[in-house]
Amino acid sequence: MRIVALAGGIGGARFLQGVQHAEPAAHLTVVVNTGDDTTLYGLRICPDLDTVMYTLGGGIDTERGWGRQDESWQAKEELAAYGSPTAWFGLGDRDLATHLRRTQLMLGGKTLTEVTQVLCERWQPGATLLPMSDVQAETHVTVNEGGSRRAMHFQEWWIKHRASLPAESITLVHHNDLLPAPGVLEAIERADVVLLPPSNPVVSIGTILQVEGVREALKAKRVVGLSPIIGGSPVRGMADACLTAIGVETSAEAVGRHYGDLLDGWLVDTADAGAVVPGVEVRAVPLYMTDIEATAEMARAALDLAGA
Ligand code: GDP
Ligand code: CA
Repeated sequence: MRIVALAGGIGGARFLQGVQHAEPAAHLTVVVNTGDDTTLYGLRICPDLDTVMYTLGGGIDTERGWGRQDESWQAKEELAAYGSPTAWFGLGDRDLATHLRRTQLMLGGKTLTEVTQVLCERWQPGATLLPMSDVQAETHVTVNEGGSRRAMHFQEWWIKHRASLPAESITLVHHNDLLPAPGVLEAIERADVVLLPPSNPVVSIGTILQVEGVREALKAKRVVGLSPIIGGSPVRGMADACLTAIGVETSAEAVGRHYGDLLDGWLVDTADAGAVVPGVEVRAVPLYMTDIEATAEMARAALDLAGA
């Protein structure tokens, strides 16, 4: 079986572990959001690609959900001591090596797709990881503080301000056509099923859906999504702030309706049983990724709903 998943960071990565546990023989391709990517200290940083790579490769800090296990923070502390204005960004010492190596390879002329492949030679995630695009694209958030409007990089809004500044709009900024990375459309075309993990519907999945050709490619496929919203709030994180910014209510039903005719099936938690999405088969199953068995059960339910 060929499975394609579109994924952000923590929610996506955890769910993919469940997919691998449920279907170890399946061929899994993960198209990863790169709208969170940023350049700090000259280093290219790809938070969602790294979260998926570390999680599936066994290098993630499982408590935190992002970054390396056995991490230390000396470089970050030293940067703060210099008064670096970006010292709020979580750069662990081990993690820094990934960004150094990625940047070294990119300066040597490799694309992000090629670099990701090189980094995965070490981590062996057991899946093909593809950035959504090799074209640089960054999610920016426009906030309005007392009538004064200001745009900032998504990371500044999300991490430095903990999404507490009301967002007027969320925009994916790119100077070149947002072409899909090599292999993205091909993987979707060959897939038996496409899964939308319980990732952020706006700044993870919503970003990938803006890549040229992705929406169209999905139309021909069996697509099943899982709600990241349970009982009216995100299971973790601040996805509600993103949904509010695009005028979508924070509920499993509203997110399903927002995806709309992209979906064939929509899985909601049992707390949201009764959710209705016109034209989409909705099923209610437990959606808390409490451990690998529970997560694998979610993956089975999604594949079952897809008819795979
Ligand atoms: P990020 O890039 O690290 O923010 O990660 P994603 O975009 O992949 O996923 C974030 C989403 O995962 C959040 O909106 C959470 O609500 C959702 N999430 C996290 N843990 C769980 C869980 O156990 N169950 C469900 N249904 N969603 C979860
Ligand atoms: Ca992310």
